[in-house]
Amino acid sequence: MRTIEAPRNRAVRRYNAFGQSMKDLYGLPVYKVNVDAGFTCPNRDGTVSVGGCIYCNNDSFRPSACTSAASVREQIEKGIPYLRRRYGAERFLVYFQPFTNTYAEVGTLARLYQEALDNPGVVGLAIGTRPDCVDEGKIALLEKLAREHFILVEYGLQSIYDRTLTFINRGHDFAAFKRAVDMTAGRGIRIGAHLILGFPTETRDEMLAMAEVLSGLPVGYLKLHQLQVIRHTALAELYARKPFPTVGYEEYLELVADFLERLSPDIVLQRLFAAAPEDILIAPVWNRTRSEFLNDLDAYLERSGSFQGRKFDARQTQQRH
Ligand code: SF4
Repeated sequence: MRTIEAPRNRAVRRYNAFGQSMKDLYGLPVYKVNVDAGFTCPNRDGTVSVGGCIYCNNDSFRPSACTSAASVREQIEKGIPYLRRRYGAERFLVYFQPFTNTYAEVGTLARLYQEALDNPGVVGLAIGTRPDCVDEGKIALLEKLAREHFILVEYGLQSIYDRTLTFINRGHDFAAFKRAVDMTAGRGIRIGAHLILGFPTETRDEMLAMAEVLSGLPVGYLKLHQLQVIRHTALAELYARKPFPTVGYEEYLELVADFLERLSPDIVLQRLFAAAPEDILIAPVWNRTRSEFLNDLDAYLERSGSFQGRKFDARQTQQRH
């Protein structure tokens, strides 16, 4: 087991941040270019379910600049010059974001992914998808692309607890996630997971336990954010009928800090906070931006002497695995 030490350099973030990890890999900051390749979702089109996940409103994460009316190539050609002008960006990661971005035949996926990789400056892809929407053929395609590019497949999981997955109408269980991760591991593809903290079906201890369970799986990247009740979702209807407690800002800061302490220091954090547009957010309303949250988190970690992996015990996770 390797020794984990508190960071000595105060300027260094007390967790393994995605931006820094990409800079370490490529020697330069890598900027995300979001694309909407026109995919749908099996949990909305009737293949798995028609209702979708109860919190899902894809408008809450669809930047206005990306639209499936334009091709992947056109969206990238529009996004990259903006990032070059605004930030002097030189390296890019194309993020296939809305809905389920492996939900097509392998030939179609190969064409769309290659269209993105053909652009000079693009170092790789991040592909958001569901764990029940990959198979051997799709993983073999990603494995081939990963020989020359950074390929990150981000599996939506949201919770490791099947009762929560049923509550949110996720349409798959935790076992489906583990099967997808097993199929993907050891093939040069980077594996990400997406979790939400704050479901009313879970206790605080259960939320924290997810850090330990994920640390025992071959997951290298993690997106984490608070549960948000968004307008025009089934969760919003439920909340209107029977309001449930949502997490407070200070409470969430502490929860994230405690979660990070239990997480393997090797896992890269891609996201720790969600900020849905004000006009569609019902609860919790914090009026904080992402960067305000990250600054507050840094200050909290510093004050409490906390850092990612502080309570992580590799022996325990190895035994569990
Ligand atoms: S899998 Fe994703 S896109 Fe599909 S319903 Fe759930 S959150 Fe929405």
